[in-house]
Parts: sequence; C-alpha cells; structure tokens
Amino acid sequence: MSSRTPQGPIPDVAVLRSRVERARTEAAGTGLLIAPGSDLRYLLGLGGGSFERLTTLVIPADGVPVLVVPKMEAPGFADVPLDELGIDVVTWVDGDDPYALAADRLSGADRVAVSDFTPALHVLALRSALPKAEQVLAGPIVRELRMRKDAAEIDALRRAGAAIDRVHARVREWLRPGRTEAEVGADIEAAIVEEGHAAADFVIVGSGPNGASPHHSLSDRVIESGDVVVVDIGGPIPEGYNSDSTRTYAVGTPRDADVMATYAVLEAAQQAAVDAVRPGVSAESIDAAARSVIEAAGLGEYFIHRTGHGIGLDVHEEPYIVAGNELTLEPGMAFSVEPGIYRPGRWGARIEDIVVVTADGVEPLNRRPHGLTVL
Ligand code: ZN
Ligand code: ZN
Ligand code: ZN
Repeated sequence: MSSRTPQGPIPDVAVLRSRVERARTEAAGTGLLIAPGSDLRYLLGLGGGSFERLTTLVIPADGVPVLVVPKMEAPGFADVPLDELGIDVVTWVDGDDPYALAADRLSGADRVAVSDFTPALHVLALRSALPKAEQVLAGPIVRELRMRKDAAEIDALRRAGAAIDRVHARVREWLRPGRTEAEVGADIEAAIVEEGHAAADFVIVGSGPNGASPHHSLSDRVIESGDVVVVDIGGPIPEGYNSDSTRTYAVGTPRDADVMATYAVLEAAQQAAVDAVRPGVSAESIDAAARSVIEAAGLGEYFIHRTGHGIGLDVHEEPYIVAGNELTLEPGMAFSVEPGIYRPGRWGARIEDIVVVTADGVEPLNRRPHGLTVL
C-alpha cells in the first residue's frame, strides 16, 4: 500500500505489545529485522514507507527492541506508542551508517531473520554489518502470527467484505454494451472508495476473451452484448485489511452455448470448497474439493490456478490453498475460495469469496449471490 493511502486507527498498545513479544518467542533465538510494509504494520500499527534509506524494527532475541529510522522519517511514527511498547528509537541522518546502528542490537546473534520484502540493498548491507550471522527469511516466523486472525482483524475483514459486496451490488449501473473495460473499471474504482475502502488495490474487468486471462486488468476493449465478464475487485479499508471478491456477469444472453452448463459446474465447485472448510482439514483438501468437481465435469485443464490465498494486511498471504500445502486449517485463518474456468479466446468465469475458519466451520465474508448475473 502506498504511504498516501489514508491510515486508520492504530491497534491498542496491549495488542501490539503481545504481537511483538509473540514475534520474539516465535523467532526462538533468531534476531528479527522487520522492514516497512505489512509485517511492520502488523507489529507497530503502521507500515511506514519503503525507501532507499534504512528503516527497520530490530527485535533481538533478548533485550530491548529498537526502531532504526531516518531522522526525517521519524515524525511519521509519531502516532505509534513506541514508548509504551518499550521500543527504543534510534534516528540517523544522511552520512551515518544505519546498518551499524541496527547491527549493534544484534551483535552476537548467530542468525537474523529479515522480513520477506526487505529491499536487497538493505539485505546485503545488513549481511556485511553482521558477517557472523546467518540470514534467513522472517516470513515463516511472522506468518505464524499473522495467519491466525484475532477478533478485531476478522471484524475488519468482515467490514471489507461487506464494502466490496456493496460495490458488486452496483456493477449493473456501469457494465453495459458500448463501454470499454477501462470506463467500467474507473466507475468501479471510484465506488470502491465510496463504499468505505481507503483505496482500490486492483480492478479486473475481463470481458469476453479477456475473461480467460485470470489476472487481466483493464483494457480499451468495448464490451459487447453476449459477453461474459469477470469482475475481480478489492482494496484495503483504513485499518489496512483487504477485500477481494469476484463475481461473473453476462451482458445479455451469453453468446457461447457452453456458458450456462460450465458455469453451473463452477458454482458447484466453489460451493463444495467453501463447504469443506473447517478446523482440522488441510489447506490442500480445500483445493481438491473445488478441483475434483471441475475435473469430474471434464474441465480440469481449464482451471489453471490454485483455489485461493490467505488475506489480511496483504491481499495475498499465507495460507495458500494449493495442492501440496498440508497446513492444517485453524480457527481465525482467512482466505479466498476462487476457482475459475477459462476457455482461451472465448470467455472465462470465476467466483471468489473470502472465508474465515470458525471454531466449528466456516464464515463466508462475501454474501452476493453466486449465480451468473445476467444484465
Ligand atoms: Zn489473484
Ligand atoms: Zn480476486
Ligand atoms: Zn483473490
């Protein structure tokens, strides 16, 4: 997310304090170096910006954590209760060696974990500053925290889901023959913000043959009567939690004769996957639940991506709902269930809901009807 995106309230100090301590516990003796981005936002309530100047939250295995930050960027952290969190702040100015400042708190560490999206220029400089420490990724450590959402996080995802549902409810206002995907997309983008998001993160309007490309964005293609149109949209609410929902529309009666029967298979596959979600089953079993329905209909070769991805402060995060992921689902995990069927050169369809694993089952956060919406 860009630093221009409006920032919502920062979580309670108690919440942040327990996250920082859990990160330290999960790191089990490894020092943590957390760069600006969603990991930092999770721990401090603020993501900061990612710049060529080093900003990093250092959480040593023992001792006081420190935020190393350029003096000119420090005012941006004014709302973060660093004092109450027991986090020191060390500022630096151009000409100083910020890597030495970060390394200072980690001297003696055999291993340091850097957050996954730390720019390489900082990773390599930190390696030089800590020549005796093995560098590993912090992702596997931080994901153990972020993957299980607490009640406030789930509530934020619920509100994001409701907001994007309100946008889908309005798609019929804009989607009609003679308009380009880009024109429709601009209206949707404005509505995403109007309905309560801080920004639109992505807008896919895949009409006709473009719908067969899962990550198509927008083009100047003019929408025609008979088109099937994939609309996949989302963005963060001010608290930083994201929506992501796909519905498929038809502009008049679909021109391809196979649409209705194929779409029915997709709808059954998506429902089977949602129905399979509960604590104790594997992530890959949810993928299999969707895929087996599509394969049984002889359409397996047209379902060309995993069934879903985790969602939270990032649109795509753990857990991934994919063959080979034996991770056991637990209450609080939130992810998309989004099978698609793509017929190259003609049309495509996808249905995507965000769901949360509950104590004994599943709560879908998107509530719009799943059927092909004929406009
Ligand atoms: Zn995607
Ligand atoms: Zn999506
Ligand atoms: Zn998605």
